[in-house]
Amino acid sequence: MRALIVEKDDEGKTSASVQEIDEARLPDGDVTVAVEYSTVNYKDGLCIGPGGGLVRNYPHVPGIDFAGTVEASDDPRYAPGDKVVLTGWRVGEAYWGGYAEKARVKADWLVPLPNGLTTRASMAVGTAGFTAMLAVMALEDHGLTPDKGEVLVTGAAGGVGSVATAILANLGYEVAGVTGRPETGDYLKSLGAARVVAREELNETVKRPLEAETWAGCIDAVGGAMLARVLGQVKYGGSVAAVGLAGGAGLPATVIPFLLRGVNLLGIDSVMQPFENRVRAWERVAKDLPMDKLEAMVQPATLEDLPKLGADILKGQVKGRVVVDVK
Ligand code: NDP
Repeated sequence: MRALIVEKDDEGKTSASVQEIDEARLPDGDVTVAVEYSTVNYKDGLCIGPGGGLVRNYPHVPGIDFAGTVEASDDPRYAPGDKVVLTGWRVGEAYWGGYAEKARVKADWLVPLPNGLTTRASMAVGTAGFTAMLAVMALEDHGLTPDKGEVLVTGAAGGVGSVATAILANLGYEVAGVTGRPETGDYLKSLGAARVVAREELNETVKRPLEAETWAGCIDAVGGAMLARVLGQVKYGGSVAAVGLAGGAGLPATVIPFLLRGVNLLGIDSVMQPFENRVRAWERVAKDLPMDKLEAMVQPATLEDLPKLGADILKGQVKGRVVVDVK
């Protein structure tokens, strides 16, 4: 089978290449899947490259997401021919992942392919889109409705941001997308953003803990100084779903927005989500994400393209969602 293998040399330097390997090298697991599509998330960039502390052993097969067809199963929940999706559970980091023609994993980690999605569409969504959906659900659970006002999406032209923008707009929200790439303005508007906010407007450090109440909610893929600024601009009782750290892991903020405006900071984790909530989120994706908008985000790729794409996503240079055809 063909796989993208990441190896580490004696000096600790990693290199990634497509190789033909024996299927017998697949790790233990209950279900063997013939992988059809995978994708590229920020974390994949780390695992294709130096590892970011995520990869446990080398040689390694990255790919935190995959979708395909069950080939063999020791678990009664899955039978050969079933279409399945996998995101999270540290697959592609601590365990071999989706950048190979076959994957062997625990049945607990799989989700049956949601009705209404193809394996390709599910990978256009991938962890990034699945997480965007979890963030929308968290904001709704905390009272966000379209009549409350504008919703901000940071890192809007990235994977999480693109899917979040398309879902929110389709649900009737007025979306403002923050981007550092002005050339993506038309793209963001085509996904449904009502307006585009320049990154420079929001990445200065907090000078005043409270600014004008502007956003009814926010999906934040950036973290750092931008998240700190946004907290001071959220309307009374509004919420921010913290998804990512593309701009930094720090949070140079004050607690004033929490104390004086009742602002909520909601943490979003896609990796360890329980099965029931995964199914709920995938059903919502199939219902609330317009497929034409999803297709507009897609950049097709092959296993051979992955070393370059991995480096690009770490530099914030990937627009939308990459779909890797593994077949
Ligand atoms: P992408 O690289 O596709 O998107 C990130 C976007 O953030 C970029 O496209 C860019 O958008 C913006 N950005 C990049 N660097 C900076 C910077 N220095 N300052 C401000 N903005 C910046 O990655 P993903 O969408 O796949 O992931 C986004 C984040 O979410 C990552 O940090 C990832 O690790 C995290 N994540 C977390 C998950 C969870 O379970 N909590 C799951 C999935 C992802 P633009 O060009 O529009 O400005």
